[in-house]
Amino acid sequence: MKLIMLGPPGAGKGTQAAKLSVSLNVPTLSTGHILRTAIKEGLPVGLQAKEYMDAGKLVPDEIVIGVVKDFLSKDEFKTGYILDGVPRTLVQAEILEKMGVELDAAVSIEISDEEIEHRMQGRRVCNKCGASYNIDANPPKVENICDVCGEKLVIRDDDKPETVRQRLAVYHAETEPIIGFYKERGKLLPVDGTASVEETTEKVMKALEMIK
Ligand code: AMP
Repeated sequence: MKLIMLGPPGAGKGTQAAKLSVSLNVPTLSTGHILRTAIKEGLPVGLQAKEYMDAGKLVPDEIVIGVVKDFLSKDEFKTGYILDGVPRTLVQAEILEKMGVELDAAVSIEISDEEIEHRMQGRRVCNKCGASYNIDANPPKVENICDVCGEKLVIRDDDKPETVRQRLAVYHAETEPIIGFYKERGKLLPVDGTASVEETTEKVMKALEMIK
């Protein structure tokens, strides 16, 4: 199974990708998590990406594509994967297609900007393993501690309200056109993302059943 998760920042792409990864037994490749880890570890790619991420802008295509190529060449991604956060521009979508990435579906999680701005205030993430929580809708079992690895949860630097608004503007201008790209290719699976995490996962699984 090869999937792409589409949707605005905060739509729940990462959360849904993590659930689908378990249900479908395929690994997730999250460019945001890879870049945040690279920043934390002081890697060159992290240094290149940081200023863009802090400003709520997209990291240049060539940097992101380099990272994706590196990861997709690993054995664990040979039989399938869920791409979370990439492609984010039409150029990235076209490059993936040219690389021979053959998708089963592009799952598009639909949700309004107002709901996103509300949700982002409650988002907490684990910088160690990349797990994502929401203090209202998807809280960790122990307050502020990651269920998966026990690390302390943090607020992402780019989840400040003004940066969230900037990221939404970037999403509408640069990422939303990708929806048409996958629709034209008959790969688009739109899913309403306003319900609970569990209900949204169910909707995605049902939509995926239909294409099997
Ligand atoms: P995310 O965790 O997916 O919300 O990504 C966080 C930030 O990382 C984004 O706001 C971008 O600055 C950067 N980023 C992640 N994936 C990409 C991508 N495919 N293209 C460009 N920038 C990206």
